[in-house]
Amino acid sequence: MSDITTDVLIIGTGLAGSATAALLSTYGIQNMVINRYRWLANTPRAHITNQRTMEVLRDLGQDVEAEA
Ligand SMILES: Cc1cc2nc3c(=O)[nH]c(=O)nc-3n(C[C@H](O)[C@H](O)[C@H](O)COP(=O)(O)OP(=O)(O)OC[C@H]3O[C@@H](n4cnc5c(N)ncnc54)[C@H](O)[C@@H]3O)c2cc1C
Repeated sequence: MSDITTDVLIIGTGLAGSATAALLSTYGIQNMVINRYRWLANTPRAHITNQRTMEVLRDLGQDVEAEA
């Protein structure tokens, strides 16, 4: 098994982990996200998206905001 080097290791690909990884990447900060499971949750978890979430998505770019 080879070693992996990264500046930031993020545990968990939920909203907090994914947003952290995406935002760090916009600043050019190397990061890696790992998760316990290889699959997505089997139920939807974003029926309602609050205003602050949309502001964070906007910071990630117009494409991301539009897709959301
Ligand atoms: C059915 C449902 C519907 C929901 N609907 C909405 C909604 O409409 N709007 C809204 O704003 N919120 C909603 N929520 C709440 C929202 O999903 C949570 O607030 C949000 O997912 C929390 O994000 P998080 O990143 O903190 O944690 P999580 O999304 O729980 O992510 C944590 C991740 O870490 C991983 N993990 C945990 N332990 C380890 C470990 N030891 N090693 C590696 N990986 C690990 C887990 O597998 C998971 O992927 C809903 C929740 C549920 C259950």
